[in-house]
Amino acid sequence: MKVLLTGAAGFLGSHLSQRLIDDGHHVIALDDLSTGSLENIEHLLRHRDFTFVKHDVRKPYTTDIDAILNFACPASPIHYQLDPVRTIETNFLGIINLLHLAKESGAIILQASTSEVYGDPTESPQKETYWGNVNPIGIRSCYDEGKRAAETLCFDYQRQYGLDARVIRIFNTYGPNMSPNDGRVVSNFIVQAIQGKDITIYGEGTQTRSFCYVSDLVEGIIGTLALKAPLDAPINIGNPGTFTMLELANLVVKLCQSTSKIVFMPLPLDDPQQRKPDISRAKSVLSWEPKIQIEEGLLRTIAHFKSIIK
Ligand code: NAD
Ligand code: UDP
Repeated sequence: MKVLLTGAAGFLGSHLSQRLIDDGHHVIALDDLSTGSLENIEHLLRHRDFTFVKHDVRKPYTTDIDAILNFACPASPIHYQLDPVRTIETNFLGIINLLHLAKESGAIILQASTSEVYGDPTESPQKETYWGNVNPIGIRSCYDEGKRAAETLCFDYQRQYGLDARVIRIFNTYGPNMSPNDGRVVSNFIVQAIQGKDITIYGEGTQTRSFCYVSDLVEGIIGTLALKAPLDAPINIGNPGTFTMLELANLVVKLCQSTSKIVFMPLPLDDPQQRKPDISRAKSVLSWEPKIQIEEGLLRTIAHFKSIIK
């Protein structure tokens, strides 16, 4: 297939680029390099089936294509809150431009949505049928509401134009190629532990997250793309194993054999208290479930960070 992948130079995009090339597809890799880096895909740049195009998805892009994977959007809270107007525009205008392209070219489109559409959930685990608890005017809403509007547009295009739009809700994912300074918890804790700096827990560290290793996520994405029939609802992709941030901090310190101590800092506004995917739909529709346990995934990620930072 000829696949258009947006956000290709980012953390997830770089892993997906590699997997799509390995599977024999031709990849047109779009990215404006705002949070991603060419270093993540450097080894692919001379591949004959890989074409990189520096492009902002807020502007239309035209090409003949079989499938579109939309991953362009800053994902770390500090990045998406830096220029919130740009973030919501990237989500909203980006998906409109890509849905239009999918309609013109008859392509399948897969949208990278997020567990953030559930906001600060009052139900746990979160099923796809849960409508969420999102502050529509808070500091996270440029991302949350942008992703929710993008989901709405996908299903409106499906109902109105018969488009094959597939939506996955990705829960916290980690692994090599995360930017060491993008502020997300796994990269922050690992970098701090390797450098012997204080481990910064926001709040009391009792909030929970579920962490999925990147190769498991990529399997879920490829499985969704390979489905024979369109999806009439989103699918959660994540690892249901749940940890408090305090548990994660202690585990990272142990695995890095670090001398770092834990410090507590203010909890950011609207920070969700809990998050855990119900993955029964992914299990039944995709026959998918995560395989990599947290310790193994963290060790692989730690090895990567040790190779790139001092
Ligand atoms: P990332 O920041 O590493 O990658 C995002 C990429 O999109 C970057 O390369 C960036 O340069 C590019 N980009 C941003 N705005 C753009 C624009 N306007 N035009 C073109 N390119 C643009 O983040 P990531 O973790 O790889 O996330 C990728 C996607 O997956 C995002 O859509 C994110 O919302 C979604 N997601 C990620 C996670 C996670 O845990 N990593 C969880 C849920 C959803
Ligand atoms: N967090 C933390 N210390 C850090 C970075 C993040 O305690 O150095 C917390 C953050 O407040 C949140 C959780 O870890 O409760 C996950 O944060 P992240 O930014 O990785 O993802 P998200 O909040 O989008 O799930």
